[in-house]
Amino acid sequence: MEDLRDLYQEVILDHNKNPRNFHKMDRATKVLDSQNPLCGDHYTLFLLLEDDVIKDISFEGSGCAISKASASLMSSILKGKSRKEAEELFQLFHQVVTGEIDPVEHLEELGKLAAFAGVSEFPARVKCAILAWHTMHEALNEETDSFSTE
Ligand code: ZN
Repeated sequence: MEDLRDLYQEVILDHNKNPRNFHKMDRATKVLDSQNPLCGDHYTLFLLLEDDVIKDISFEGSGCAISKASASLMSSILKGKSRKEAEELFQLFHQVVTGEIDPVEHLEELGKLAAFAGVSEFPARVKCAILAWHTMHEALNEETDSFSTE
């Protein structure tokens, strides 16, 4: 777990200091508010969905380092991903931050997302880490009633 701890430091510090895709998006097809009142995290998520593909994604707002780094990393990872791929990553990320799966066994799929595995030891921070992902998940699922995770 030593490597994961280093990755945690590196990814959280980097993305908190230099958040990616941190801006408004005028052409967004979905704009969602996301809040975690327990911590004071508050972001707006912008999604440009075209033909079931996330063509562009951005966010703005403020909150703790974990919530901001998570939103930033999510935005850089999901750009260009299909709805299905995004949903699969959401499920995987959810399982990692809640400690349901061992990140070491899924390093390939997780990539830098593995950095958030340490959050599972701090239940109060799980909401911070999952906030942007949860909002994205809701945005994708309200698009069509027939969407399925299968
Ligand atoms: Zn937070």
